[in-house]
Amino acid sequence: MSLEAFRIDRHKHGRSDGGGTGTNGVTASAPATPRASHRLRLKPKSDHKPESYDDLQHQLDFSPMLFSSLERYLPIPMMALSRDAKVNYMRDILLRYSPEGERTRILKHREYRQKILMNYKPLHRELYSMHAARFFTPSFLKAIRDGTEESFRSIISEPSPGILVFEMLQPNFCEMLRSEVDNFGRWVHDADFRIMLPNTMNRYGAVLDDFGLETMLNKMMDGFICPMAKVFFPEVGGCTLDSHHGFVVEYGVDRDVELGFHVDDSEVTLNVCLGEQFSGGELFFRGVRCDKHVSTETQPEEIVDYGHVPGVAVLHRGRHRHGARATTAGHRVNLLLWCRSSVFRELKKYQTDFSSWCGECQRNKRERHQLCIAATKSELMKRERKTAS
Ligand SMILES: [Zn+2]
Repeated sequence: MSLEAFRIDRHKHGRSDGGGTGTNGVTASAPATPRASHRLRLKPKSDHKPESYDDLQHQLDFSPMLFSSLERYLPIPMMALSRDAKVNYMRDILLRYSPEGERTRILKHREYRQKILMNYKPLHRELYSMHAARFFTPSFLKAIRDGTEESFRSIISEPSPGILVFEMLQPNFCEMLRSEVDNFGRWVHDADFRIMLPNTMNRYGAVLDDFGLETMLNKMMDGFICPMAKVFFPEVGGCTLDSHHGFVVEYGVDRDVELGFHVDDSEVTLNVCLGEQFSGGELFFRGVRCDKHVSTETQPEEIVDYGHVPGVAVLHRGRHRHGARATTAGHRVNLLLWCRSSVFRELKKYQTDFSSWCGECQRNKRERHQLCIAATKSELMKRERKTAS
């Protein structure tokens, strides 16, 4: 796979750590003009063990995982150099693929996050690093530890193919995250700070990645969602999830009431209700569709409704069309983690055939297959009649 296979995700933003210390010699400086002489190998050196860049999360413009994947493609002499030298070399290459407007946007967003991180005081520090035993339910932890399809299936119910429902988060974690988001909301209000909304459809909520939870959510995706996505959603990049967008949305009579029919900007979506007391707010699903077929009609077997239960996760493909019915009373908060694969997005550009995961593509394929059989049959009958006469 060549470098072209790595798409720079427009929703993945780098961030400076606010302290501006420039540790590890990786400066979070403005992207300079990328050097055109930097090259990668066409084939990866598969026996090379790449370094981890996770601790540089706040200093890098791109996902640390992207740097680890790219390292195998470095020219051999580069591999022996210091980690900082490798980072700078790879960053120069990545920036070459990032258009001017995109670079400005990345920079602006980094400044935005820096401003928040310098001024916002977290309420629950323990949320900001991964404490699996305190966050997740024992059944979920055990299934992840075992890591087999059988162990996942033992905790999952699947109301319709591709919609996985399982107990995931402890009540205490849900409550902590809710109060952290409330605390952030109060700070935003008191500081009269203008925040960016989680997406184009929700007006109430907050982007968790923007106020310091990115590292923890990355660990959640990496260690706890990827293993399941690998088993259940390999055809949409479930094996190669490498960036995320994590946010919380709030529903109620004084918040957003419902959510229209849509698909997510994700390969795999994790949606967990964090509480509290509410009625309504059911998710409705209407089949998985590719870009071409996103507005085609729903087949009866694709109609599924799901009622949220606090702490219980719903995991589905981002392209599984869905929406949320009105939350008619009370207040509902949900955690969303949109997991993305840059490799899948890049490969999708070259796809010309039917999508194996799109309901409509598969229906068309079956229809064409049936037409083919019918045509062959009539052709054979014609020939038989000819030989008989
Ligand atoms: Zn399709």
